Amino acid sequence: MRVGKDSVVSLEYRLHLGDGEVIDQSAPGQPLAYLHGHRQIVPGLEGAIEGMSTGESKQVVVAPGQGYGEHDPEGVRTVPRSMLPPGFNPEPGQTLMARTEQGDIPLRIQEVQGDAVVVDLNHPLAGKTLHFDVTVREVRAATNEELTHGHVHGPGGHHHG
Ligand SMILES: [Zn+2]
Repeated sequence: MRVGKDSVVSLEYRLHLGDGEVIDQSAPGQPLAYLHGHRQIVPGLEGAIEGMSTGESKQVVVAPGQGYGEHDPEGVRTVPRSMLPPGFNPEPGQTLMARTEQGDIPLRIQEVQGDAVVVDLNHPLAGKTLHFDVTVREVRAATNEELTHGHVHGPGGHHHG
């Protein structure tokens, strides 16, 4: 069967940013299982996987707009050091989690200028062109229960209990 809406797809993937250096990948023998057509993976990748069948591999290049979005300059803010947790010594490149009403969001330290700290609230992959190598390991129809829950059950998916 081919991948379509409400398919459960087991996907082996590798992600790099154009230079071949892998920054994310599925664990060996443990493909990612996701529910197709429910925006559980970035839109550009989901669109490219549509229609693929078991055993098929593909290289997919995803522009930022179809990936994690463009980098938003508004997301780069300068905050006083006193807003950071006490005892935390900020260094460029570090990420800490900021607790907000919308949940925890990652906050990247971009620069430290004395008592001012420049932080970036954008997703770390915002503005990046994503290069995926993917192999579809399995395609099956989702069960009614999975569709009701909105996620995959079993290996590579959600476990209740
Ligand atoms: Zn469930």
